[in-house]
Amino acid sequence: MLMFLCGIAFGVPAALAQVVNFETEIREKGFGRNESRERGVGSWRKGGTRIEIQDRKRYALVNGSRLYLGHSPSYEHGKFFVKKRDWDKRFSPIAAPPKTKSPRRIVIDPGHGGRDPGKINKRGMYEKTYVLDISKRVARILKARGYTVLLTRDGDTTLELPERPARANRWNADLFVSIHLNSASSSSARGIETFALTPVGETSTGDPGGNAKTQADDGNARDALNTLFAFKVHSALVAKTDAEDRGVKYANFAVLRPLKCPGILVECGFLTNASDTALVSTKNGRERIAVGIANGIEAYVRAVGSAPPAATRRR
Ligand SMILES: [Zn+2]
Repeated sequence: MLMFLCGIAFGVPAALAQVVNFETEIREKGFGRNESRERGVGSWRKGGTRIEIQDRKRYALVNGSRLYLGHSPSYEHGKFFVKKRDWDKRFSPIAAPPKTKSPRRIVIDPGHGGRDPGKINKRGMYEKTYVLDISKRVARILKARGYTVLLTRDGDTTLELPERPARANRWNADLFVSIHLNSASSSSARGIETFALTPVGETSTGDPGGNAKTQADDGNARDALNTLFAFKVHSALVAKTDAEDRGVKYANFAVLRPLKCPGILVECGFLTNASDTALVSTKNGRERIAVGIANGIEAYVRAVGSAPPAATRRR
């Protein structure tokens, strides 16, 4: 009982939840603390990577971009605590990316298609049409850089949801990116958001009050890489487009659950917003989106310790 009370007093119910001291862990990865005048705000830096966390905010800022967490950090007696799962699956891979085999086979999944148009806006723009165009551009760019690229669909065909990750698995994909466009009831909602699969024990970003995920899917075997992949693609895409940054989020998407490789879903903008639609409706805008995604994929490849194929060939 005493232990329990201590835990509550420190804001860290240690008997109930596994937490780690953030400062200790991040210093071990070579990060140093930045000066901060604000109470309950901590910021650390190593090279070009800056990570900020805040007391009771369910996201971190990584280079200014929101990375949504499974649980809010807590700040007690000058120390920051984060859930161990958040450390292992989010902070750790970004602070010190794990090394993997070289990703070379990329599967791009244009959302919807055929009987399923996806979102349709007032201008009559069909999501399925624009995401296919963006996907083909990503494929062309990556092929030119030496990757093997496969599309789950390359025409306006109906493709059931389970068949998308199933194809990626059959084709021995090293990486999977599903490409979509967003919509909202408010026309002011805009920008880019990138999703990774919700880890077991957490609620999805969009449903914080919901039930925590209880069952592990194949995709959960790579939660840490999913986060790193989402973060790299998201950062590169936001940088290339100057679109509003809505952050890296987590959802229990059926298209990500069965994957046997790192996978993400990118929402490249809102068809219900004027500035996003302006970007998506021009060839130049879609090319920028595609270059951003391709750059992000290469940033991930470099982060996990391998040279991009084009660089390998040049040697
Ligand atoms: Zn969609």
